[in-house]
Amino acid sequence: MSVNYVARPWESKLFQRCRRAWDLAARERQDYEPIEPAQVFDFGEAIHDALDVYYFPGMWDWGRAIVRPLTLAGFEKSMRRQRDAYTQTRELSAAQLQDWEQHLERGTGLLERYFAWASEIDRFTPIQVASQFDIALPDPADPERGLTTAEGRPLQYRVRIDLVVIDDHELYWLVEHRLSSDPHWPELTALQLDEQALTRSWAWQLGFLAKLEGTIHNELRVVAPAAGKPEVQVRAVPGAGGIITQRSTESFRRTHIPRTGLEIERRGIAVALEMQDMTDPLLRIYPNLSWEHCSRCAYRSPCLAMTQGADERPILQVGYRKRVGGDFELGRLGSVWGFVPEIHRVAEHRAPGTEQ
Ligand code: SF4
Repeated sequence: MSVNYVARPWESKLFQRCRRAWDLAARERQDYEPIEPAQVFDFGEAIHDALDVYYFPGMWDWGRAIVRPLTLAGFEKSMRRQRDAYTQTRELSAAQLQDWEQHLERGTGLLERYFAWASEIDRFTPIQVASQFDIALPDPADPERGLTTAEGRPLQYRVRIDLVVIDDHELYWLVEHRLSSDPHWPELTALQLDEQALTRSWAWQLGFLAKLEGTIHNELRVVAPAAGKPEVQVRAVPGAGGIITQRSTESFRRTHIPRTGLEIERRGIAVALEMQDMTDPLLRIYPNLSWEHCSRCAYRSPCLAMTQGADERPILQVGYRKRVGGDFELGRLGSVWGFVPEIHRVAEHRAPGTEQ
């Protein structure tokens, strides 16, 4: 156990969804993870890995003709890495192999179309990609003080961001990549209320002591492209922080949402209150049985045993293990930042192709 109590956004999500799942999974709790990956690949993760290459700050000045094949190679490498992890102990069925191959082709096509779309609207310079950093949680009642657990352990939040860019006016924006196969784009309000974007914005401002102008929601949709040149729709609507602009085709949508300082600050207060709940010595743990959550829960087998009054420990011993790796996966692109104290930064960047 480290001196600090560290929480992460995925643990917050589990805590909100089901305290039993959170108790089994969170690093500060039982810290179990399934031994075998539940799926052959995560398509969204592979597309994210590709975009990390495309927007790698050290290559932003390179001709895009050089970067595009590297991006496609990053996508394929991610798909292969995930498939290899799955097949360490199992064979792929013919249907699984076909699905993997189809997604490899689909992702390559999607990225090639994205390159054309992005080249017309990427009016910024990336400054950070796939960065992970910790921040000390300020006490909402006294922001000069850091929050601690009842035993005096400082509370920290560990965040990983997709991308931060600086625009032509030297304003910082936090970019969120989102992949979806939904036939409809989410409503604008869903982006304005995007918890992940606000949490990352708040953490980034606190960690890097700089102000963000807002968030850019970079959405990619897996749909069959219409023939011919895609029709571009442009929209501008007033928002609390300024004019929200949106450009979209059937496959891609880019939304700039200027944010007010208050809405980012309020998200930070919500995170602090939630972490105080998480670390409350009187916290009660109970399951939240709901098929919406249980159908995709990685802890369904031990939970079923507990629900039926059986012993869950043999199931945990066979199918789960205590986490072995750190938060930052070796072999993936990105950087880890430390703050010693808050203002001093140390970064480790790896250029694509030099990862171990
Ligand atoms: S199966 Fe459902 S109730 Fe059980 S831990 Fe998972 S989300 Fe919670």
